[in-house]
Amino acid sequence: MSTVRFKALAQTADRKPVAFEEADKKSAIFGSNVFNDKSMRQFLTQDAYQGVRDAILHGKKIDRKLADYIALGMKEWALSKGVTHYTHWFQPLTGTTAEKHDAFFETSFDGSDPVEKFGGGQLVQQEPDASSFPNGGIRNTFEARGYTAWDPTSPAFIFGTTLCIPTVFVSYTGEALDYKAPLLRALNAVDNAATNVCKYFDKNVKKVTATLGWEQEYFLIDAALANSRPDIIMTGRTLLGHSSAKGQQLDDHYFGSIPTRVLNYMRELEYECMLLGIPVKTRHNEVAPNQFELAPIFEETNLAVDHNSLLMDVMQKVAERHNFRVLFHEKPFKGVNGSGKHNNWSLATDTGVNLLSPGKTPMSNLQFLTFFINSIKAVQTYEELMRASIATASNDHRLGANEAPPAIISVFIGEQLTRVLEALEGVSDGKLSPEEKTGLKLNVVGKIPDVLLDNTDRNRTSPFAFTGNKFEFRAVGSSANCANAMTTLNSIVAKQLIDFKKEVDVLVDKKGMKKDDAIFNVLREYIKETKNILFEGDGYSDAWQVEAEKRGLSNHKTTPEALKAKISEKSLALFDELKVMNHTEVEARYEIEVEEYAKKIQIEGRVLGDIARNHVVPTAIRYQNLLIENVRGLKEIFGKDYESIAKEQLILIKEISSHIEGINTKVEEMIQQRRHANKLTTAEEMAHAYCFNVKPFFDEIRNHCDKLELLVDDEMWTLTKYRELLFTK
Ligand code: ADP
Ligand code: MG
Repeated sequence: MSTVRFKALAQTADRKPVAFEEADKKSAIFGSNVFNDKSMRQFLTQDAYQGVRDAILHGKKIDRKLADYIALGMKEWALSKGVTHYTHWFQPLTGTTAEKHDAFFETSFDGSDPVEKFGGGQLVQQEPDASSFPNGGIRNTFEARGYTAWDPTSPAFIFGTTLCIPTVFVSYTGEALDYKAPLLRALNAVDNAATNVCKYFDKNVKKVTATLGWEQEYFLIDAALANSRPDIIMTGRTLLGHSSAKGQQLDDHYFGSIPTRVLNYMRELEYECMLLGIPVKTRHNEVAPNQFELAPIFEETNLAVDHNSLLMDVMQKVAERHNFRVLFHEKPFKGVNGSGKHNNWSLATDTGVNLLSPGKTPMSNLQFLTFFINSIKAVQTYEELMRASIATASNDHRLGANEAPPAIISVFIGEQLTRVLEALEGVSDGKLSPEEKTGLKLNVVGKIPDVLLDNTDRNRTSPFAFTGNKFEFRAVGSSANCANAMTTLNSIVAKQLIDFKKEVDVLVDKKGMKKDDAIFNVLREYIKETKNILFEGDGYSDAWQVEAEKRGLSNHKTTPEALKAKISEKSLALFDELKVMNHTEVEARYEIEVEEYAKKIQIEGRVLGDIARNHVVPTAIRYQNLLIENVRGLKEIFGKDYESIAKEQLILIKEISSHIEGINTKVEEMIQQRRHANKLTTAEEMAHAYCFNVKPFFDEIRNHCDKLELLVDDEMWTLTKYRELLFTK
């Protein structure tokens, strides 16, 4: 066996599980590394505590003097836990988190008076010297730098010996350079819009919170094996590799018990999550071999997004201790399932009502139907933008593959609710008769709670499905920052609710309709208008692609095509109206995303070319030489009869040559196309060229390589194989 593979496999075989024993009960340690309500009460003065609470609950500003007091308490708390450094923790548009650590420790210029210092200034604002974060041209690096600003709605936490302060990252001119700033604005927009609509039903509602419960899927691969693959190291996925004899067809992984090594990893990970206040709850195997899932209890969306970003960091760090590498890529292995991150989403009032949970009384059902139908309408109006919000080079591999939602956005609501909508639609025009009203409220609508209880028919192929008391956005990629999808979803729902309220108010104020009738009337129109987005069938089928086209739904299979919708007039107007992002901010994001797409494909192209030429071809030649030598020997022994005796070897020699030739020509052509692409001037043109002229070579090159893997002596093959990557426990 090749030395690289041999070493990697030997290392893996030697591994003993890193034991991990939880010391305390989960509930006892939960959030102990978070500056949460409990620690704030303990370490802050009454004024400082109230200041933070007002900021969290009512969005009040914290003045500088108060910030000094808060910083003082936060520092005391952190020092009591052995913390030495602090950092502003933020989420730049690169998909990962960023931090720059500063020590609390300070001395005066002559080295005297050493003290631990941390004031309101350091808490509230920092310049991260981050001129190399992507900014899409907003932040001219010569002019001004961006700064990070404290987000008091997400509590500070300790990781290792560092106090991490969640922050937004904005330019000096106020434009958002990160994921969090637009998300906070979108959450504010949906709060205002939904609260106004809630007042139709309950005057006491003062605040509506968007909730998010994500489900993180991932692959866990032995570190030595992962490190032996240049493609995994450089791109997070395998660019080649023949599928192993056994894949996921037996479903034995999904129902199997979690291997000890993995279980120890999960236990330590959960322990770390508990300390950080991330309420993880379920852990289980996923469909593909070595694929797993972790899900928390849902939380307020901003906090949930922070927790998911933090979790992804923590997962990688804990994995190192257990000699694993976590793959967040949406499709790390060909032929087995990819990974997603379902985003379960709902709206909750400060009076404790889940607005997407069918109520017990007719009146609360009208409220449920209002939010339910408006959500559907929002998705219908902005389906292209929804698709754009989840578009990345890596997610393209998953969308439309036969285990993932298609690139077409549609909404699944289940049979029972379909019937409820049909019944509502059937009500004759104009004012509702008293009988109709009672009928709707009691006989049809009133039945929702019961029928939903056995709503087991959850269509797994739908990208956006109603699952009893929430919508589940399933097309989000496993490596994504949820903020992108959540900013979009909450924005479109906010806009829809604003429009809905306007329509209802017109009917009430100008047409003198009763409020209930007006609501019913507007909803009924929506039901008629939104039929094309509702789909209950098999989203994986070819028939759906044809049907969706007839319905006028978009089907953007690639990221460059999908992203276009971000900068359409409609999207720009939406984000502008809601003050979520101005035109510059949206255009900058578009720029960053198409550029990132081009870069990712560029890197994959380079790595694939390199592996094909420097691993696969030399190995194939070496094996071919062995065959040639063998044929020569046979000729020596058998003379002119050798040809029939060496028949198979001769075929192999030819076959190997033809694949080598295939690889060389295709790699050469791909390089030519990359050269063309690199000469293009705009990021958009480059992304298109990489998508349509460079990427198509990947499959061709891969096919030749994978065929060679089957032909060449296993001893000689340098690349760790699928069966080793996927089935080593
Ligand atoms: P599954 O979809 O795997 O069958 P569940 O339906 O039990 O699992 O829930 C999946 C996720 O939905 C969990 O992470 C949970 O926290 C989240 N969830 C449940 N209710 C809500 C809600 N009202 N808002 C947001 N997320 C929710
Ligand atoms: Mg789910």
